[in-house]
Amino acid sequence: MIKQKTIAGEICIKGKGIHTGYETTLCFKPAEENTGYTFVRTDLPGKPQIPALADNVFDTSRGSSLRNGEAVVRTIEHVLAAVVGCDIDNIIIELDHEETPIIDGSSKHFTEALLKTGIREQNAERKVYEIPTRCYLKDEEKDVEMYLIPDEEYRITTMVDYNSSVLGTQNAKLKNVAEFNEHFSAARTFVFLSEVQALLKHNLIQGGDIKNAIVFVDKILSQDELDYLATVFNQPRVSVLEEGILNNVELNYPNEPARHKTLDVLGDLALVGLRFTGHVMANKPGHKTNVEFAKLIRNKIQETYGNTSLPH
Ligand SMILES: [Zn+2]
Repeated sequence: MIKQKTIAGEICIKGKGIHTGYETTLCFKPAEENTGYTFVRTDLPGKPQIPALADNVFDTSRGSSLRNGEAVVRTIEHVLAAVVGCDIDNIIIELDHEETPIIDGSSKHFTEALLKTGIREQNAERKVYEIPTRCYLKDEEKDVEMYLIPDEEYRITTMVDYNSSVLGTQNAKLKNVAEFNEHFSAARTFVFLSEVQALLKHNLIQGGDIKNAIVFVDKILSQDELDYLATVFNQPRVSVLEEGILNNVELNYPNEPARHKTLDVLGDLALVGLRFTGHVMANKPGHKTNVEFAKLIRNKIQETYGNTSLPH
């Protein structure tokens, strides 16, 4: 019998949200058995709780965002990936604003914080639902396909293809969740330079907010443009590295984008709200389909094992 786990103490992390720019403090706290993952907005009257479940997602345009009544929490996927990677069953995640801190665009700082507090075993047994038959989801418009094939482990294989000379086909394989902290948690989010330039032009981001992001250079740059980017990134000189990225960062892994997409899938599928096993194969995944797939898996568990065993 495997027992459920929570964290041994409390720990907080401070930082800005990537989309809203708000400075936010996020605090991890231990939670009771069989309660799962719960966000709490401590800045709102009555401190509303928002269970991390796919049914509570209301927006997947730039990250996955949850709502319960008036209370929202945004960009929850990197935090949840760290929670799953640390093998935690029950946790409270408090926020004093609406968006989680982005820090460096990966899960590493959340993982490190969770491990620092320590993981505590609880008395209740952990239930793990083996998915007995294949699940499949396709989004024609976005050319996304998601499969789950029955397996004794929970694994994720991700394929991306940006059809760009600087970022083409890449794969990443998470053979089991125990690999996550060491090999996936430091995979950062990434953007294409043309997107960054459009956002800068419309004043939608500040250079400082993307100083840690991987920027793929998908166009030829003039010296003027390079000089402008040097000012924005607050660097003496900006150049394009051999891998086709700006020199504000170096890659943590050669296939960092595919690893980051795997991290996003792991974080979004935490919204199933239950432990399960199966081999997930994600072809060009995005938040919208990840969340739909989480609902599909939850429904499959209900069909197979009945409603009575479901928390929340
Ligand atoms: Zn992400």
